[in-house]
Amino acid sequence: MTVKKRALIGLAALLATAAVQAEVKDGRSLNRYATSERSWGVNAYWMESEQGLVLIDSLLLVPDAENLAAVLKARNKPLLGVLLTHPHVDHFGGLSTIRKHFPEVPIYATAATTNNIRPVHERAYEQGWIQAFGADYDKNVVLPNKLVESGSTVILGDMHFQMTSFGAMESADNVLIYSPEFEVLFTGDAVMNGPIYYLGEGHSHGVMEGLERIAQAYPANQRAFPSHGDPGWLGPMVEHELAQVAFMREQMSKAIERPKALTEEGKLSDAARARLSGIFTEHFRHYLTFGLGSETLAWMNMSGLEPELLAERKAAAEKAAP
Ligand SMILES: [Zn+2]
Repeated sequence: MTVKKRALIGLAALLATAAVQAEVKDGRSLNRYATSERSWGVNAYWMESEQGLVLIDSLLLVPDAENLAAVLKARNKPLLGVLLTHPHVDHFGGLSTIRKHFPEVPIYATAATTNNIRPVHERAYEQGWIQAFGADYDKNVVLPNKLVESGSTVILGDMHFQMTSFGAMESADNVLIYSPEFEVLFTGDAVMNGPIYYLGEGHSHGVMEGLERIAQAYPANQRAFPSHGDPGWLGPMVEHELAQVAFMREQMSKAIERPKALTEEGKLSDAARARLSGIFTEHFRHYLTFGLGSETLAWMNMSGLEPELLAERKAAAEKAAP
């Protein structure tokens, strides 16, 4: 590629980037690449030191990942590693593109994240919604090639990244990444800043527990960089997530306990679901929704919450029985 063409692509990449922010500390910089709502308003973060670059997550769509790769290429330094926060398409979807431009790059993730990438990728096709992106979503799935034990520190050049899993929360495995150089905690989707919390995988109980453990593990005045939304302070962000997940659990429980709410098969009636979707949609009207809208998020979250809370109710009844 000619220098001029590369420069033009780099410029196009910068213009297409919804938000490029950089902060510099001790000669290293921390940068954010945020996509538009078409690709779910997701953040990737990249760090640069004299020795090279490190990327956290890889975005959803090929055009975004191409732009991100062009931004990284323009730095003329090696990409020392990619770290993954969790196994969702908007975080691993761009891996194939990143690896195309940086063939040698090691990709780090926990075993639980790695093992869930292909199933999540395949489920998106089975469910049929990912096809809406056409060729912009990469059908080639790339898996991490470096396994990380939860709690261990990955050292890349002169930068350190402590990766700690808090288990099944927003996804099957949610990892927080602490950078001592920047004194920043990358919270992935375990703690976001603004969006409706996604409970479609039925782990709302795990979310409540995980958020409590996160609040114990890090100080409230820790700077937190989420994978959706702007950076903020960890304490208030965790409180916000706890409140909204507690609200959704409480409303689902109430819906289940209402007289005649359940069908003969023991599921919520259509009328009960419609009523609850109205409550959720109204309550979360002003939240970010990954570009999907609060009503769609309401139905997605109900599909995870309903079987989870029905199972909790059944388990409680069996425990109470003599
Ligand atoms: Zn996400």
